[in-house]
Amino acid sequence: MDVRPEYDDLTIGVVALQGSFAKHAFSMGKLGIKSRAVREPEDLKLIDALILPGGESTTMTLLLEEEGLWEPMNEVLETMPVFGTCAGAILLGQQIDDERVRCFNKIDYIAERNAYGRQIESFKTSLIIPTMLDHDFHAIFIRAPKFREIKPSVQSLAVFGADPVLMRQDNVLVASFHPELTEDPGIHKYFVDEIVLNSR
Ligand code: GLN
Repeated sequence: MDVRPEYDDLTIGVVALQGSFAKHAFSMGKLGIKSRAVREPEDLKLIDALILPGGESTTMTLLLEEEGLWEPMNEVLETMPVFGTCAGAILLGQQIDDERVRCFNKIDYIAERNAYGRQIESFKTSLIIPTMLDHDFHAIFIRAPKFREIKPSVQSLAVFGADPVLMRQDNVLVASFHPELTEDPGIHKYFVDEIVLNSR
């Protein structure tokens, strides 16, 4: 894996209130990229991009509001690149019909929580991501959402069945699965190379 010299100046923030944040930091570490846990508004001033990890979107909303992070995050995400996974992808979309979840409206779809139903709440599959990787990506879905009312502004990068599971709109990248739980940091690398470095 090529470590680019531009990586030296980057710090990727990972919202570290709940969920699989440590694994995202680990994926960045594999690429030779620094990360910083984001727990309070001040942390947002010290990062170049943000990862909003999986967890539980209801709990995450509560914690973001309690820590005074929701508003400042909403502001920085007007321009800062962001990668949302699972619950993070739910929060980055348009407001869902559940008042316990407060969405950031940064990508044009509406998420349906826990949309794969009980029997296959969690599953693994191989995804083909042609514009990103020359090999299949081993994807782990955990009580994943599906996305409805996807606008043409959103580019689908990978599908599972008929459903887009990896999407991009400008500086926003989202996955309904958990790329940080797979050995392969290829999607994290795409985020940094194609989105974060290009937005500078
Ligand atoms: N089901 C969770 C939610 O609705 C998301 C699951 C996850 O992030 N793995 O928030």
